[in-house]
Order: sequence, then structure tokens, then C-alpha cells
Amino acid sequence: TPVLVWFRDDHRLADNPALAAAAATGSQVLCFVVLDDSGDVRPLGGAARWWLHGSLKALGESLERVGSRLALFRGPALSVVERIAKESGASAIFWNRRYGAAEIALDTAIKKRLTDGGLKAHSFNGRLLHEPWDIVNQAGRPFQVFTPYLRAVTARRQTAPLPAPKRILGGAWPTSLSASMVPLEELDLEPSSPDWAGGLREAWTPGEQAARAGFRDFLSTGLEGYAENRDRPSISGTSRLSPHLRFGEISPRQVWHAVTTRVAEHPGLARDTEKYLSEIVWRDFSHQLLHFHPHLPVRPHSSRFDAFPWIEAPRTLKAWQRGRTGYPIVDAGMRQLWRTGWMHNRVRMITASFLVKHLLTDWREGEAWFWDTLVDADPANNAFSWQWVAGSGPDSAPFHRIFNPVTQGEKFDPAGDYIRAFVPELASLPSAFIHRPWDAPPAVLRAAGIRLGETYPDPVVPHGPARERALQAFRSLRGLE
Ligand code: FAD
Repeated sequence: TPVLVWFRDDHRLADNPALAAAAATGSQVLCFVVLDDSGDVRPLGGAARWWLHGSLKALGESLERVGSRLALFRGPALSVVERIAKESGASAIFWNRRYGAAEIALDTAIKKRLTDGGLKAHSFNGRLLHEPWDIVNQAGRPFQVFTPYLRAVTARRQTAPLPAPKRILGGAWPTSLSASMVPLEELDLEPSSPDWAGGLREAWTPGEQAARAGFRDFLSTGLEGYAENRDRPSISGTSRLSPHLRFGEISPRQVWHAVTTRVAEHPGLARDTEKYLSEIVWRDFSHQLLHFHPHLPVRPHSSRFDAFPWIEAPRTLKAWQRGRTGYPIVDAGMRQLWRTGWMHNRVRMITASFLVKHLLTDWREGEAWFWDTLVDADPANNAFSWQWVAGSGPDSAPFHRIFNPVTQGEKFDPAGDYIRAFVPELASLPSAFIHRPWDAPPAVLRAAGIRLGETYPDPVVPHGPARERALQAFRSLRGLE
């Protein structure tokens, strides 16, 4: 009898504990994915659906190379998986665990149905360095603050990643199930009319092979200097692994292992390595927060913020989404996001702060926009980061720390190269004015071909008064007077 492997955001052969365990049974292994648009779990945004298409294509090809194949199904996971289990005659099912509340509820329900039906269900950690319940403080409770969490993780031994199975004993699907399989193209994951994914295609190659190649490049040329370069949006100073990690095309354990091996050979990389691994631990941290605080994507973690006087301002929200706020660093970031499905971390912080504080718009609007437009949109990282910026999350930046978009731009993009790349209408402006076009003398603007308010917008809100308004709104919260 065959065994089943259900892939869910773990689209890789190497270091995939569920796949490795299934292969080790010596039985025929039937691999499948279920696209569940029923709403039982949060549906993916547009950019992530585009990524998923490429990711599944690559996974299918990798499985075929080792003698297996990937079957695609569509429908509510609960009933689809139950049917697959029954009709395949499988004796066991293997999967890697997920950590969101809806996902856990669904997986628990599925596990119960399958085991009631006599199937063995085996689940594994394929997504995190450590599972949420494994890293706790001395009182046995989850950490709320990052630094002690990081310390606890660093003190732990990290197990070595598993090799990819060289061969998987494939099996035949029964005809009744074959008839329900959906060809990848028919899952409609890619946009058609209009096809807005040109910029994404140019910027990215989904899949395990591309993830590993990109990571190898980063290890040999990007890790050195990471601690400094990671804050420079105009250069490729970060690993750009986020969508690959999001879809499980590479595991944090593989990353951890490769980076610690490299630093052992090159001790000069210690500072860069420490910084890089701490970012990987932030990813685990946000997953453990999501696990213990499942409301993180939908309401403020700190109830003080329940009464925050957000304003509804569709015009300024739209200006932010389209990269037309009149603040060059904000606009460059939002246009990088729109064009490539990704935005540099420094600029994510600036654009998010601008929406929440300068525009006094509920962070959930921003979270939803990022969810739809990021290829790395991640239930844990996105929600946690938005609450971090808004000041309402666990271990957040304080609300009163309000980024000045001009000085942030001048500090992190001093020559304006990032602006020039994404806001071409400002490209001819000298660096001295590129983050503050409104201060440029008329002759300079003329020479650069800029008519403020026409070729490039005036600021949607003035910085000083917007800052004051935000602080006042914050002070109005009960208990903070
Ligand atoms: P690197 O600097 O090379 O870091 C390596 C990896 O560490 C990343 O791929 C990521 O998995 C992890 N990481 C880095 N920074 C963080 C962080 N602050 N929190 C958690 N994990 C981190 N990241 C997402 O993966 N998905 C999101 O949906 C997401 N939304 C965000 C929203 C906002 C408002 C902000 C401020 C940040 C968000 N981030 C999100 C975190 C961060 O910006 C991205 O992970 C990072 O920019 C990805 O680029 P990289 O892979 O080159 O990062």
C-alpha cells in the first residue's frame, strides 16, 4: 500500500522531514498539493499566487527527476484530503506542520478524520528552526521579547539538515482520483488579463534550485558586509530569500547550517553572520508569536490600541498604494513593491510608518495591501511587522518613534540611486534635493524637467503637522495621558 505526502509551503526535496520519512518507509509515495480557496484559511494574495504557480511547477519537475510526480487538487482541504486518503488506499500520510490558528484547526480536524478512518498521520517541523512550544522562558512560558528569545535559540543545538531523497518510489494514482487532478495551468494562479506579472517574472525565479543558487551567491559575495549593506536599499545587500523561505523552497535549518559552516571557515564574517542569523531568528520569533497570539493579523496585540482614532482616507491610501505620496522614498518603495513584488526591509519600515503615522491609516489596510502585493507575504512576518511598526505588537517600536521620510531617505539612500531606479520622473534631480524636491529652486526643477504637482505630486500631508497629529492621536488613548 502507498503512503501520501501532502506538500504545504514546503516545496523542496532537501531537508523536507515529511518527504524523507515517507521515502524511508520503502512504500510507494504519492505526493500531492491541495489549492484550497474555500476561505477556511486566508486565501493567498495576487503576487503570492503568481509565486505559487512557479513554485509548484518547479516542485513537480524536481519530483519527476527522482521518479515521482506531484498531483494537484483543488477544493476545501478537509474533504479533498479525506477523499484522497480513502480512494488511494494509503496506509499513512506525512506532512510538515503549519502554525496559524486556522491552519492548525484545519489540520487537527483532518488528522482526526483520517486517523478515525484507520490511517496513520505523521507531522513534522519543516518550517522553523524550533517550534513555538520548544523555546520557552524559565517559567515555561513563551517569550514576548526578542532578545532573550534570540539568546535561547542561540544556546540551542541546531540539527543538521536532511539530504534530498535520491529516488522516490512512485506509485499509480487510482483513476477516480486521477480524474479529479487539475493541471497546473488550470489552477489559475497566474494573472492573465491584464498580465501584471512582467516585473515579477523579471525579478524572480521561484523554486528550490533558484533558492539554493541565490543563497550560494549570497554566501560567497553578499554575507560579507551584510551588517552594513542590509540598510542600503539601492544595493543588493540582503539575501532576497524571503519568498523562497515563505514557500519552503529552502529551510531555515539549511540556511543556519550553511552560514555557521561558512563562519567557522572565515571568522572575519562573525559580525555579519550574527546579524544575518538574527534575522532568521526574527522569522521564527514572529511564527511563535502568531502561534501563541493567533489574532495577530486581525487585531492589535495591545488592547490599548483598540480605540485608536484611525481615519478613513481613501484618497491618501490610494496615493500610498500607487507610490504617489510626494515623498520620494515612500513612493520608490511602493513602486518597487508594485513592480517586483518585494520591497527592501528598511523601506518597508519607512512606508509602513508613513501609512500608519503620517496618514493615520489603520495598519490593517497596509497589512492587506502587502498581503496582496508581496511575493513573500507571510501570515506571521507580515502581521507581526505591521504591528511592530504601529507600536501595538509584542516587543514593538514605540508609537512615538515617527520616521521622517526625508531624513530616512537621506541617511539610507544618500545618492538617491534607489529613488532614481523607481521614480524615474525625479531621476535628473541633484542628490541634494532628491529626497525633498519641494526645496529645490525653480531653476533646478526646471532643468530636471519637473513640475511639482504635475509631473510629480506635492506631498499628500506636510511632515511636521502630520507628525503632531499622530502624536496627539496616540496621546488620546486612555491610560497614556
Ligand atoms: P534578509 O535581510 O536577507 O533576511 C533573511 C531572512 O530573514 C528573510 O528572508 C526573512 O525570512 C527573515 N527576516 C528578515 N527580516 C525579518 C523581519 N523583520 N521579521 C521577520 N523575518 C525577517 N517578511 C516576510 O518574509 N514576509 C512578509 O510578509 C513581511 N512583511 C513585512 C512587513 C513590514 C511592514 C515590514 C517592516 C517587514 C516585513 N517583512 C516581511 C520582514 C522583512 O522586511 C523581509 O523579510 C525582508 O525584507 C526580506 O528580504 P531578504 O530575504 O533579502 O532579507
